[in-house]
This record gives sequence, C-alpha cells and structure tokens, in this order.
Amino acid sequence: MNYDFGEIEAKWQRIWREKRTFRTVFEAQKKKYYCLEMFPYPSGSGLHVGHLKNYVPTDAFCRFKSMQGYNVLHPMGWDAFGQPAENEAIRRGRNPREMVPEYAATYRETLIKAGCSYDWEREINSSLPEYYKWTQWIFLLLFRKGLAYRATAPINWCPSCKTGLANEEVRDGRCWRCDTPVEKKPMPQWFFRITAYAERLLADLEKLDWSEGMKEMQRDWIGRSEGAEVDFAVADSDLLGGDRVRARRDGLQGRTIRVFTTRPDTLFGATFMVLAPEHPLVPLITTAERRSSVEAYARRAQGESEIDRLNATRAKTGVFTGAYAINPVNGEKAPVWIADYVLMGYGTGAIMCVPGHDQRDFEFARKFGLPIVQVVSRDGSAYDLEAAEPVEGIAVHSGRWSGLTTAEFKKAIGRWLEEKGIGRPTVNYRLRDWLISRQRYWGAPIPIVHCPSCGEVAVPETQLPVLLPDVENYQPSGTGESPLAAIPEFVRTACPACGGAARRETDTMGGYACSSWYFLRFADPGNERTFASRPALDYWLPVDVYTGGIEHARSHLLYARFWTKVLFDEGLLGFEEPFRILRNQGSLLALTPGRRPRPQEESGEGGEKIVDWIVLKHDERECCPADEVVWRWARMSKSKGNVVTPDDMTRHYGADSLRIYEMFVAPFEDDVHWSEEGIQGSHRFVARVWRWLQAALPHYRKAWRGSLPAVMPSVAGHAAAPSNSIEQGAQWGPAERGVRRKLHQTVQKVGAQIESFQFNTALAAIMELLNGIYAYAPLEKEALPQAIDAAVVSELAETLTLLLAPFAPHLGEEVWQQLGGVDSVYRAVWPAFDAGVAAVESVNVMVQVNGKIRDKVVVPLDSDEESVKAEALRSEKTRQSIAGKQVIKMIFVKNKMLSIVCR
Ligand SMILES: [Zn+2]
Ligand SMILES: [Zn+2]
Repeated sequence: MNYDFGEIEAKWQRIWREKRTFRTVFEAQKKKYYCLEMFPYPSGSGLHVGHLKNYVPTDAFCRFKSMQGYNVLHPMGWDAFGQPAENEAIRRGRNPREMVPEYAATYRETLIKAGCSYDWEREINSSLPEYYKWTQWIFLLLFRKGLAYRATAPINWCPSCKTGLANEEVRDGRCWRCDTPVEKKPMPQWFFRITAYAERLLADLEKLDWSEGMKEMQRDWIGRSEGAEVDFAVADSDLLGGDRVRARRDGLQGRTIRVFTTRPDTLFGATFMVLAPEHPLVPLITTAERRSSVEAYARRAQGESEIDRLNATRAKTGVFTGAYAINPVNGEKAPVWIADYVLMGYGTGAIMCVPGHDQRDFEFARKFGLPIVQVVSRDGSAYDLEAAEPVEGIAVHSGRWSGLTTAEFKKAIGRWLEEKGIGRPTVNYRLRDWLISRQRYWGAPIPIVHCPSCGEVAVPETQLPVLLPDVENYQPSGTGESPLAAIPEFVRTACPACGGAARRETDTMGGYACSSWYFLRFADPGNERTFASRPALDYWLPVDVYTGGIEHARSHLLYARFWTKVLFDEGLLGFEEPFRILRNQGSLLALTPGRRPRPQEESGEGGEKIVDWIVLKHDERECCPADEVVWRWARMSKSKGNVVTPDDMTRHYGADSLRIYEMFVAPFEDDVHWSEEGIQGSHRFVARVWRWLQAALPHYRKAWRGSLPAVMPSVAGHAAAPSNSIEQGAQWGPAERGVRRKLHQTVQKVGAQIESFQFNTALAAIMELLNGIYAYAPLEKEALPQAIDAAVVSELAETLTLLLAPFAPHLGEEVWQQLGGVDSVYRAVWPAFDAGVAAVESVNVMVQVNGKIRDKVVVPLDSDEESVKAEALRSEKTRQSIAGKQVIKMIFVKNKMLSIVCR
C-alpha cells in the first residue's frame, strides 16, 4: 500500500517521453490554449525550488486546460544570449557557446523530473543561428521603418561588464547583472524608437488582464504628463555686466531656454530656473566669474548615476551661472542655476522653478535664498506658505489671470503662449528610447554595414544571419568596442549597396531583443522561411496566460509589447497585444546566515545609504563568532548559500509532494518562507490519498454512472443541468448524500480556483474532501463494509484522481491507468459537477413547545442547534406559543426536531 513514488514517477516520465504525450499539434478545429512561462537563461547553479514556484503551478494550469479539452501549447526554451550567460562564462573561464547547452540540459532534466508537461519538440535557444537570424530580420524591419537608429548619446556604462546598458537595466543606479554603479559615457549607440509607441503602450494597458500593480508600474515608467512648453529668453542686456558686444559675439542674443511644465498656470511663481549641468546652453551663458565653479560642479555631476541624481531625499546642491532669464508672463528676471537633479535626457533638460508649489524647488529656494511666491491658493486668498503647496485651486498674484481656477488657467495660458509664439500645450513622456547596443560578444550581431560612401546600410535579407564568429577571446575589451571589432575577417566586408570596402557593425544586441519575440517562434519553431507561419501565429497567438516575475514590468514586458505592435503595424500579426493574461508569482525565501553590517559598511557616501545585512560567504561562516551571525529571509541564490534543489526534494519526497508543496504553501503571487516541514506535510497527504485509492480499487466499478442518479456526462468543467427530475438517492441515507454533495461542491470549487490561479485554496478543498471521504468510507482497514455503496466509492475514487491529476500528475496517471483509463490522464475529461447534487439539501425540522408540535422550519441539512433555534424564533407561530412564558430548556435533534420546554 505504500506509495513508491521513486519508481512510479520515473516510470511515467519515461512513458510520457516515449509516447510524446505533451507534443502539441496544430488542429484548426480544436480550441487552443497557449500558456507560457518567461523563458529562463540557464545558469550553472541550476534550478532551485524557488524557480518552481512559477513552473509548477503554471504546469498544473496547463494540465487542467488540457483536461478541459483545449489544445494546449506549453513550450520551453532558453534565453541564452546576453549578459547573464556571458558573465557566468567569463567567471568560469568557459566559452558560452559550449556552456549554455550544457546548462540548458540540466534545466530540462530538472523540469522533467518535476513532472512538467512541456512540448520539448518546440524547445528554442535564442543563441542559435536559426533563431537569431529572425532577431536580425526584425531588427532590419525596425531599421527600415525608422524605428532603429544610431546616435551618440551619454549612455549608462557598466565599468565592470564593460558595456552600455538600457535604462531598464539600471537598478538603483547599479548594473542589473553585477551591481556595479553605472557611469555616463557618450558613445555612438543603436536605439529602438520605443517612444514612438508610448501612447499606444499606455492606452492598450486597459485591454489587458494584468494585475493593477503591474499596469501601474508600466504607466509610471511611460510617465505621460500633459502640460506646456514655454520659452524663456536669456536676459542678454544684464548678462556679462551689460556687455552687449560680448554677448552678441558669443551668440547669446535671442537665445531661449525651453522648459516643459505640467503646471503652466504657476508661471507667475517661477522665480528661478535650473538647467541640467550637461545642458548645451550652460557654457554659453555662464559668466566669467562663475565659470570655474560651474565647470567643477558639472564634472562632478557627470560621474553620478541617474537614479542617485533623481533621489528626492538627497540634499539639494547647485550653482548659479550668473545668467538670468526673463519670465515671459511678468517680464521679471529669473536667475539661472545648474543642479544635478535635472537630467538632460528627460524633457528639455531645463526646468522653471516654482518654489511656492513644488517641494524640491521650495527646498532649493530656502537653501540658496531665492524668492518664494504664492500663485495658487486653496480658497482664493493669499497667505504665507510654510511649505510648498502642490495643489490646484484659485490663481493669486497672477496678474489678469488671478481668480481663475487651475483648469481654466491652464487652458487660457496655453492659448496665450501659442498666440505669442513662445510656447504651446504639449504632452511629455518619461519613457526614453531603448538602448540596444552592447559592446559584448555574446549577442546577436547587429546586421548593419558602415560604408564610407553610403553610410549605414542594411545587410540584405538573403545574407542573414550575420553569424556570430567563433572566437577564442570573447572578453569585453574595455575600450568601448565589442570583441568583434578585433576580428578583421568579421569586420571587413563589402558594402551591399555600392560594393566598396566597408565595415560591419561590431556591437551586438542586448538579450532583451531575443526575448521580445520568442513567444511567436514557439508557434512554429522550425520554420526556415519566416519567423513563424501566419496560420500558426493566427491559431496559437496571443499567449493566453503568461507567468513570470514582476521585475520584468519595465523591461521585457514593455519591449515585447512594442515589437508586437510594430509587427502588427507591418501586417505580420493579427493582434496587437502579446499577453492576454499575466500572472506574477511570488518568491520562495530561505533562511540565510549573515552578519550585521559594520559601521563603515552601513553608511555609504554622505551616510545616507543603508547596506542590508551582509550575507556570509561559506568560509566566513566557519570563523564568524556565533553571536555575530544573524538570520534573515532572502531569495534563494547560490551566492547566498541558501539554495534547496528540486532534485534533492524529489529524491526524498517525490515530485508530486514537491509540486503540492509549491502550490499549497501560499497564494501564487505571495512570497513564502521555505520549510522542509511543509513538504513533509504534502508528502503525508499524497501518501494518504494513495492509500485510500488503493483500498478503493477492488470496489471500483467502471460503470458506476449507471447506478448513480443525476450525474451528467462530463462537459469539460461546466456545470451540468440541475437534476431535479431524478429522485435523489432514494436508496441512500444522509451519509451518501453528504459525501456526494461534498464531492460535487469540491469539483465546482477546484475548477473555479485553478482558473483564477488560486492553487492553494483548490488544494485545501481537495484535502477537505479527502477527510470527508475517509469519514464516509475508512477503507484502510478491511473490505468494503456492508453499509458503503460501491457506486459512490467508485465515483469518489475516479473523481478524486482526476481532481488531483494536475497537481500530482504521476500519482494521477498511475491511478488513472489502474482505473482502466485508456489514454493519458492528461487527456482525460475534467469532471463535471452536478449542481443539483452539490446543492445544499433542506430538511423540515419540527418545533415542539411543551410536547406539542407548534411549527416547522425549513433549514439546510445538518444545520446546528444555534441556527435552527434562530430560525425557529424568527417564526411568528413559535413566538406566539412561547409568549409570556419562561423558556427552561431546549432539546435539539439534528435534522428532526427542536423541542422547547417552557414554564
Ligand atoms: Zn555590470
Ligand atoms: Zn556603399
């Protein structure tokens, strides 16, 4: 009776592989379901149990969908190009070309051992030429459409990875891969013009079934704001001590500073201006006596990361340029400063400062003694400002516009600026173009040729892919050029346009290019003529459910939406959004030893940065005094030494127990704390299910449906019609009715809960059902007792097996075959529930008062004394018969009678 999970799980994994059980074929008549996890980059540490918190529930979901009758596409592949894989290869002194496939094989083995139902015949690897040929092909499509361009711009540069990074790859001012602070470096780079799609990327979020938090992160990153552009003229008369001749010579006359503001109604309160230190006007307007301090400040700001510069809690710094601008609404002179919190990349690189109504400007004005003027009032009266009031209200101190509401003022000032030719209403976005160039080896080469006479020329489609050459030395050069630049055979080529000598582009594409379309390739992974055939795309796409980490909100998920829209606009796809439903799993946290940071570690520059507890390295753990060690919960990672591997867990407890643990331990979206006791609990549950099912087998009758009233043929999880016409369980007592009610209620619950990704509550319902089953038929000990109905036992056994199959597929498959199932349980029909059987029955309970029946109440079967009493006392008849009397006691007989004794 013991469950030999080792043998059974290995057996079914072998049979699934041999019979190609999870192979998906195109069947135009069958409704499809495309379910996808974000494809991983295979790392040398392998998968840990934390990774399975995504893969396992998604797998259960796929199995459920298959049982519902869908043609399920559930593929897996490897995000093999890019920094993660390359950094690891460098660290280990290996060539990524050999290393990645080995790692991928390890991942594949772990996922197979966890019982995941992938169609491995669709496996893709983004670093193979047959794949990246199409990444390059899409690059060229973007290039032709003007959506890929080369420009020199200060970019995020990781001095450790020796490459440029997209804004989305910079986290808290640090490189997403190696945590090194990022620098700014001006370099010629390739960009994708994602900003051209900002409005659509924002608007189409409304159509998606994604969490509100995820949508909000994208909205925030796109950062749309409505406002106005305003031109401030530089006051050249005052400039340079009134030296107009010199001002004219330096080209200052008629220069303007353009700003974008979301609050043009506060123009009267703009008492000074701040430019980014990199603003091109700065060297032109700075006065001679201010020049040295301005230049020193600008140099310092250049070395700082964007995130640090935008940090609102940082102490405000800045220097005066000596120049003034003229406020166009009142002609007053506003001193022009530079400060690092204004960035050249956002808006115009210059801001008008309204210290009365912006906290940052307020602090800046206070610190440097600049005037603060109130121009918006909550109630229309003027008062002294204690702090900035970033409010809407009534304009004050605003000339002829005083008295207008904020909305009226915005409209009026927009018109006025346009009439005067010094501004216009406009929309601004925070989103920047997507930097795609990497000065690295391990990526898809950018398919462009630089010709001295033709400029940038696309590599013709017939010459794709531009192969990544096999090299000895793939280490980043550090010169700002990719290692490919050192390979003359790669670099030297003929211009496709004029045939003259030309140079290949030597930058490669960042890995996010590969992952921006891989979900399309899964529909038709072997296609050599196109990235995927149109019929396959039309059938399988869009992805119905996509699962992965929330950390991709601002990168992959935005990029993939952008590429999909471009391909849609080109008429290559019939849909505009790639991922209909998105679900984000929580993390599995494990206890990690560490020590508290020492004082010098705790405070970075300026004492503002708090370093987290320091994770102990293995060798430190030996010698660290015990009282210095503290424990904390952290995401599993090899470097923290807190990894638990699925292979260990499946060896000890079985894959089904591990799967149930991963799903039962917490809601899908929640972070949870790993505990081995948890998986032991799951293991006990699996064993208990197994024992009952094995005991039930001898009594199982395949034709049980014929002897049971009111079980409609299964219709893929949909409720069958209520079965009022059949006299329910005439031959049965309440025990049979009770356990069947529980069963059908559970079927209803579990289906709905899997559908909404509530795997933990679905499993809780099955566990409760199992308790009910044991209470009805405790089969462990002996043969079927007389009182127990074989048809009911058969229904329970078969349905329980099917309910568990998505969660514990090996056990499900084994028992399904024991019950005489023909095909795999993966293709069995998900049980239907009968609403009539599931409905709570009602009974009549007699109400006696002093031995005489006075009333009867209708209550749900098995109601307890409290609820029957309450129901009885609500009845007029009962109340009348006890009126004026004192109730001494009540006697309650379940489902039959409530007897009230009065005096
Ligand atoms: Zn780095
Ligand atoms: Zn040419």
